[in-house]
Amino acid sequence: MKIGVLALQGDFREHRISLEKLGADVSEVRHPEQLEGLRGLIIPGGESTTIGKLMVAYGLLDAIRDFGQTKAIWGTCAGAILLSKDVGKRQPLLELMNITIQRNAFGRQIDSFEIDLPVPFLTPSEPDYHLTFIRGPIITEAYGGAQPLLSLPDGRVIAAQQGKLLATSFHPELTDDLRFHRYFLEMALSESEN
Ligand code: GLN
Repeated sequence: MKIGVLALQGDFREHRISLEKLGADVSEVRHPEQLEGLRGLIIPGGESTTIGKLMVAYGLLDAIRDFGQTKAIWGTCAGAILLSKDVGKRQPLLELMNITIQRNAFGRQIDSFEIDLPVPFLTPSEPDYHLTFIRGPIITEAYGGAQPLLSLPDGRVIAAQQGKLLATSFHPELTDDLRFHRYFLEMALSESEN
């Protein structure tokens, strides 16, 4: 199965490695025509304003918006921000998911943290998943088909799904645990709608 990783800025290499370990045929996407033939696309962590501006410069904003009407897209951290409809300030967004985001919700770089949490929808569901947050966002609202998927113990939402669109505040690509990437590959294979 062919999966693309948006390779404009951020930790796209780590996503590529995780997908390849699962046997996916991975290509780096920097131009709209490279979306052709892909079943899914990952938008990595990085800096969402920078990635958004580069998407505009490379003609990828509209192309990925079209791609996301029918195909699977997973955004991690900055990627989740880019999938959202609203971040409370003006910056280029794909506006594909019915979610509202608060950027840098946990504070500054020094407030980055890691936590182990049960994630029942992964296969296998044990052990707990090691979640890494690096100036991550939270999902303050999910509506109109977007469902909260995972929350911190204090209730703040850190993952949401809408059809084959997935947004996570954290970085599975920075762990050796491939269960989230496997979850995404299964989504990309499914025939469900967005
Ligand atoms: N703080 C970044 C942003 O708002 C996201 C950080 C990340 O992707 N690790 O774009």
